[in-house]
Amino acid sequence: MNCFRLAPVLLLAVPILAGNPAIAQAPDASKPAPPAAIKSFDPAAIDKTADPCTDFYQYSCGNWVKNNPVPADQVRWARSFSLLGERNRYLLWEELNAAATSPKSPLEKQYGDYFAACMNTGLVEQKGLKPLEPAFQRIAALKDAHQLAAVASELEAEGSPMTLFDFGVEQDEKDSSKQIAAVGQAGLSLPDRDYYIVDSKRFQDIRKQYVEHLTKMFTLAGDTPAQAAKEAASVLEIETALAKASTSRTDMRQPENRYHIYTLADFEKLTPNFDFTVYFKAVKVRPFDSLNVATPDFFKALNDLVASEPVGAWKSYLRWHTLHSSASNLPKAFFDENFAFFGKTLAGQKEPTPRWKQCTSMTDRALGEAVGQDWVKLHFPPQAKTSMDQLVVALEKALGDDIKTLPWMSDATKKAAEEKLALVRNKIGYPEKWRDYSSLKVERGDLIGNLHRNSVFAREWNLNHLGKPVDEKEWGMTPPTVNAYYDPSFNDINFPAGILQPPFFDFTVDPAVNFGGIGVVIGHEITHGFDDEGSKYDGKGNLREWQTEADRKAFTERTKCVADEYSGFEAAPAKDGTPAQMLKGELTLGENTADNGGLRIAYMALLDTLAAQGKTINDKIDGYTEAQRYFLGFAQVWCQNQTDQSARQSALTDPHSPGRWRVNGTVQNFDEFGKAFGCTKGQPMVPANSCRVW
Ligand SMILES: [Zn+2]
Repeated sequence: MNCFRLAPVLLLAVPILAGNPAIAQAPDASKPAPPAAIKSFDPAAIDKTADPCTDFYQYSCGNWVKNNPVPADQVRWARSFSLLGERNRYLLWEELNAAATSPKSPLEKQYGDYFAACMNTGLVEQKGLKPLEPAFQRIAALKDAHQLAAVASELEAEGSPMTLFDFGVEQDEKDSSKQIAAVGQAGLSLPDRDYYIVDSKRFQDIRKQYVEHLTKMFTLAGDTPAQAAKEAASVLEIETALAKASTSRTDMRQPENRYHIYTLADFEKLTPNFDFTVYFKAVKVRPFDSLNVATPDFFKALNDLVASEPVGAWKSYLRWHTLHSSASNLPKAFFDENFAFFGKTLAGQKEPTPRWKQCTSMTDRALGEAVGQDWVKLHFPPQAKTSMDQLVVALEKALGDDIKTLPWMSDATKKAAEEKLALVRNKIGYPEKWRDYSSLKVERGDLIGNLHRNSVFAREWNLNHLGKPVDEKEWGMTPPTVNAYYDPSFNDINFPAGILQPPFFDFTVDPAVNFGGIGVVIGHEITHGFDDEGSKYDGKGNLREWQTEADRKAFTERTKCVADEYSGFEAAPAKDGTPAQMLKGELTLGENTADNGGLRIAYMALLDTLAAQGKTINDKIDGYTEAQRYFLGFAQVWCQNQTDQSARQSALTDPHSPGRWRVNGTVQNFDEFGKAFGCTKGQPMVPANSCRVW
């Protein structure tokens, strides 16, 4: 796994929960109900009063958007991702619930107990803060700043998450066959550094509410109001200093900005105030001589901060993160306060998510390749894998054909691009070899203990990679996940069984709809190998230029066109005196490039497939041509509603564009769209100037 590179690149952002899932402890755990089947192509979603050439998203999704507001327990509600995500989670819940009641194997007993411990809110209430007491005692014993490393390391060694920075093992960016140690920036509780440092009214208000939240949490933990207010101020001060020293998300997308190899001795010279020798010993990593310091400026600032902040401030900081990281698994008073700020205020979620959903997701995160084994047996038939293999090959061929015809690329670069494409590895459904969880001890009556032991297990699993050969069979997503990713160091595309379901993947419908769904998803992931970030890596996964200088210049002009285009799109409209939030074209450039490439090559693959079946793109089904059904199938993947707060948060943190622009941004850049709907040049969806990279 790669810790700090913001890679692998996903199809969709994993919800950002500020380190602590704002998920509920619903007192009645409202009864799970089987979700309805999801239509791959839904004529009822279409808004026929809209003009597809003016606003294709409104045309394809307008009725769905109107009739499907965000449910109270969600912040974003998308026709494909959310509905399928809810379905997969329900199916997984059935499995976990059965395993918790009558396990049929030691593995089922293990994940059944993990799930059951989470569901037992009565016991959570009874235990109160007791499970965190050993951590609080360690923190209280902190005497001076020199001991900070020792105390923080002990907390992490016992399973509390390390919050000051990230440490782990990753592939060396320049030699992907090596697995090396790496450290990177972290330490914040709010979703992004902007929340601490931007001086707008909106962020000032959020910071004020954050301080109120901190104060309430400290008070709940037993501190006097005066103490709690002082502690809250210290936490904000330390986190603000860390935020100022952090590299922006946009800059972190550039591999060269997060690759700085240091000898261990030089790194320790950079941070003399934080004793990393003690830290590395505590987390039991094997000895090493050099490491990647992803963000050296951050560590310089952390070092200064250790000396300048009084020891009392550090105690408050550690105490806060201990509370915060467990908040949704503490008694209801803590849970509710956590939800009120991180769920309601920051993300606009009206009600907490039911407990059964929280516990199902938590078990999947911890033991995904255990629960996934049975899940794929039930929900991913071998025929689906075979069909998917064929689709991926068709898409890879389409990109190969596309590369051959690119007018701006030299033959030398085309050859290098084809070589990289030929080396892309396809991983479909689930791992060939399942992860072994036998050393993870799970106790049915010890929720916090399970979480801590799991965190130790996951860390040791990662650190154990140090210096070992890379295992290409490993996965970074669990089988029931509705998502997909490309990993530039592995140069592989990964499609969990969870997304290979309707409405993405459905062989009861015509090929046009399937190519608009899973076809574009496959095309998107393949194109990631060739977006502004992925194109810096060669076929072996090493950072190495393979384009000629002139081609790289032409490529960069083309990606700049995409970045400028998307910077002009609005992510959230002006509201109640808060100005509109525009999309960040540079932050979303890789995803937008992948969306544009994916739409083009899936269309090319569809043409090949139809031709082989003796059909054409102009054949009609239910009043729509195959071409129209392709674009509608694609657009309907992205129908969504989102709360205003969440849309604003996503615009700053999510490298993906919102649904509207994933649709309208891409069709604007693809001539075949205008032809399919008989649009005329100059209409909004067929602008005079469009962008094209691949
Ligand atoms: Zn992506």
